Amino acid sequence: MSASRKQRARRAQDLPDLVPHPRYGAQPQYTGLHPAEAVGVWFGWRDRDQPPIPRTAIPANPARQRPATIPATHYFDRLRHCRDCGLAFLFHAREQQHWYEELGFGLDADCVRCVPCRKQQQRLARLRRRYESLLRESPATPHTMLDLADCSLALVEAGAFHRRRLEQVRNLLKQVRPRLGPRTAPLHRDLWLRVLAAEGGATLVSGVMSQK
Ligand SMILES: [Zn+2]
Repeated sequence: MSASRKQRARRAQDLPDLVPHPRYGAQPQYTGLHPAEAVGVWFGWRDRDQPPIPRTAIPANPARQRPATIPATHYFDRLRHCRDCGLAFLFHAREQQHWYEELGFGLDADCVRCVPCRKQQQRLARLRRRYESLLRESPATPHTMLDLADCSLALVEAGAFHRRRLEQVRNLLKQVRPRLGPRTAPLHRDLWLRVLAAEGGATLVSGVMSQK
């Protein structure tokens, strides 16, 4: 193993296991660049309590930054812990550059969730919007009602809705039952199974465990 590969391996061992980023992977992107803080050197994102990942800096492009913002000259890979799952992940230098120079985000917009949790958060936001719009649909068709039951159930399953919403899902499924056709019946059955799992899953599992 070459000296620099050994160095890289050693550096990687100092880090906890990282949630992989779909584009940048689960390791820091070592560039060899490590500017010190000095006059005229500005790090895009910085941390008060911990240093950046060494030698992961990339140069910024101040020309692409909004004129009113603080100019950044470099970005470093930074260690973060996800607000939702608590796992460690990296807020990558390239991602920071994208946020700052292409999306125009401010430096106060920190990256607080790993990618899977960000995706889950976006999925839940979409479900909530869908749920709200289905509630407003009138007249409600069997399809709308099953869709509404599906959304509500998915939000309960993800912990975004309280379990008492299962009662609403049950009512929807009861109301729609006499109007089911060959295409809606299988969906209706699947939704019932999910309601039963959500209501009794924990009891069933603990029952099986106690028999052992
Ligand atoms: Zn997470």
